[in-house]
Amino acid sequence: MSQEARYPIDLHTHTTASDGTLTPTKLVALAHQQGLKVLGITDHDTMEGLEEADIAAQGSDLHIIRGIEVNTDWMGKEVHVLGYGLDPQNSTLSTKLRSIQRMRENRIHQILEKLLGLDVPVTFEEVVSYAMGKSIGRPHVAQAMVARGYVRSVKEAFDLYLRMGGLAYVPRYKMEPKEAIQMICLAGGVPVLAHPGNRGLETMLPVWVQYGLRGIEINHPDHTADDTYHYRKLANELGLLTTGGSDYHGPKIKPGIELGLWGMEWADYATLNQTING
Ligand code: AMP
Ligand code: ZN
Ligand code: FE
Ligand code: FE
Repeated sequence: MSQEARYPIDLHTHTTASDGTLTPTKLVALAHQQGLKVLGITDHDTMEGLEEADIAAQGSDLHIIRGIEVNTDWMGKEVHVLGYGLDPQNSTLSTKLRSIQRMRENRIHQILEKLLGLDVPVTFEEVVSYAMGKSIGRPHVAQAMVARGYVRSVKEAFDLYLRMGGLAYVPRYKMEPKEAIQMICLAGGVPVLAHPGNRGLETMLPVWVQYGLRGIEINHPDHTADDTYHYRKLANELGLLTTGGSDYHGPKIKPGIELGLWGMEWADYATLNQTING
């Protein structure tokens, strides 16, 4: 669902540190160009892009929020947890993230074995060439498959091979939302449930709140206007803050998704900012 107006604040973006196609420097430049005032960078399972982004934004009126998006599973469903304002130097966090990176690599090797068995071979080196940063993932495999001419788009690679239940699907390393929430809290961050959509996670929300969940991402390209309304209401009932963002990955990965077309207004941001600093 696309929207006309741009938001001043976009708190969900990816860079080349994970599966985005723009470097942190280029993402910051684009954010400037599009008039954003606050940019949250939330790479998958890594904070490696943040230093470069901070440097790129120095001396400008664009504020960078340090973030992360941790991919977890709950009852066979993908549950992503965003974290804001974490300390990237936290040693428990960096140890955990390093172990997640190793598991990500192992998973890619397993996916490539399956692809080989399906007569659509891709080498690990090809995949790595798309993963310029540290956090390797399925979108990098998808891009290598497009380059080989096996599929026409990243989307087709997911639909046929890489999606959950697809021909070359390999389950993710086991990590529960609870673990991600606690890891983010330990590093001084604010955990926010990312794009809950229609996955029926409502019953778990009070439980996750007990573990430290502080907010819900309500504005996101996967959400309808009804979803946004529904989750704002739920957030109010549970005393949770609300966030929003475009989940920008660059034009090649998710066509039509532009920076700031999804995001949040200042009033909601003020609450988040207080929580981050409080
Ligand atoms: P991974 O981290 O390796 O499990 O890959 C998951 C990431 O792949 C998600 O966070 C999205 O960025 C991306 N993704 C998932 N499904 C699709 C799809 N159908 N088309 C494009 N990208 C996708
Ligand atoms: Zn992604
Ligand atoms: Fe996500
Ligand atoms: Fe994301």
